[in-house]
Amino acid sequence: MGKMFCMTHGPQYGPQCCSHVLAAIDASSEAQASVEPDGLVSLSLDLLDDRQIVLSVLLCRACAMQYGRTDGEVLAGNEGGAPAVLSWTCPSCGVCLERWMRHSTVR
Ligand SMILES: [Zn+2]
Ligand SMILES: [Zn+2]
Repeated sequence: MGKMFCMTHGPQYGPQCCSHVLAAIDASSEAQASVEPDGLVSLSLDLLDDRQIVLSVLLCRACAMQYGRTDGEVLAGNEGGAPAVLSWTCPSCGVCLERWMRHSTVR
């Protein structure tokens, strides 16, 4: 879990997300419709390869396909840092993420 500052919710912890997921969960973004929670691929990044610090990473379907990532996968820290293995990710706001997921499954 990474820490970030949400404009709405203040300091929050949430999984690392690709730029498309981050745009989708941001209610003010126009990219909202392009990513659906159903297609998300969730994997783990074992930062120091000792299971002490494991980051959750959420990728949209397009990023997962582009980088060949699969749901439930665990990446070693040195792997995850390579640009060829993982798209750019940034910590998300867990509250915004949860709200987006709940909202979208209703539709
Ligand atoms: Zn993406
Ligand atoms: Zn938020």
